[in-house]
Amino acid sequence: MNQTIIDLRSDTVTKPTPGMMQAIMSAQVGDDVYKEDPTVNALEERLAAMFGKSHALFFPTGSMANQTAIKLHTQPGEQLICDHYAHVYNYEGGGVSFNSGVSCKLIEGTRGMLTAEQVEGAINPPDFYHSPLTSLVCLENTTNKGGGACYDLDEVERIKAVCHKHDLGLHLDGARLFNAIVAKNEDPKRYGELFNTISICLSKGLGTPLGTVLVGNEHLMKNAIRVRKVLGGGMRQVGFMAAAALYALDHHVERLAEDHQRARELAQVLAQQEYVKSVEPVETNIIIFKLHPDVEEEAFMQSLEDQQIRISNMGGGKLRIVTHLDYTARMHERMQEVLKNTFSLIN
Ligand SMILES: *Cc1c(COP(=O)(O)O)cnc(C)c1O
Repeated sequence: MNQTIIDLRSDTVTKPTPGMMQAIMSAQVGDDVYKEDPTVNALEERLAAMFGKSHALFFPTGSMANQTAIKLHTQPGEQLICDHYAHVYNYEGGGVSFNSGVSCKLIEGTRGMLTAEQVEGAINPPDFYHSPLTSLVCLENTTNKGGGACYDLDEVERIKAVCHKHDLGLHLDGARLFNAIVAKNEDPKRYGELFNTISICLSKGLGTPLGTVLVGNEHLMKNAIRVRKVLGGGMRQVGFMAAAALYALDHHVERLAEDHQRARELAQVLAQQEYVKSVEPVETNIIIFKLHPDVEEEAFMQSLEDQQIRISNMGGGKLRIVTHLDYTARMHERMQEVLKNTFSLIN
């Protein structure tokens, strides 16, 4: 039987909807290296205004936007503070050291989130010249490896105060920032007040083929376009992709609540299965769970694969499911059935 594949490895697997394709096809474009692409300019202005910042810049990837932000905040030899789960540390190819000559002080937070006390305790004393100078704190919201957990913004407020006191920059990796904003009903401007720079990804939950926008104020952002050029991220008629992003901002933000609801429902089903040892609390669109010690991860993943279902293995016994725009109500029905019946198949 030829069934549709249910791909829950990541929210990056989505394809443009017909409406998004229409927006792409009818986009006004120009050469963005000359800053002459009207659609890119409109997207940058819209996100800068939404987050209450003066400047915004469009990047091909989230990694490039984060790496640029790190470069803007630091000098070679310095150190940034992040959680040991952080994407900037684990999944950007070592770019922190390659691009900026910076090291990471890793903190074991809770589900990828830090407290103000942890941040303050990780700062190297600036007059002790043996240790690297701490100059930046990078947070992630929602956390990826932390299972889609969202910060309490009051804690971020305290972290910001620590950064202010010690003269540190504060960057937010917002690959899934709109998931947090929707889940907690937050005002994007509050994020603009808390962070010096924010990367906002458009190709995860929002469902565009590519693009991340970095927002910040002029004193930091004035060099962003130069760093983007150095990293090879100057693009020409990229307004086609900015049009997809503008469409997504109009049509794909509120619907994230649907992804969150389905993720909660899947987590409930998983929690009732004998083959599952534990399921982490679900706040947004990511479910992280562990199998019972008697169940082989590989066999479990294969039995799902045999039923045309894909999920991902995060290592350390953690399996990950991510709900998204292309995960339909019908797929959700089938997925729940399969999860309820899989144990018998693998025993
Ligand atoms: C996906 C992701 C990024 C950006 O990754 P790219 O693949 O370069 O777009 C950054 N941070 C987090 C937490 C992510 O999940």
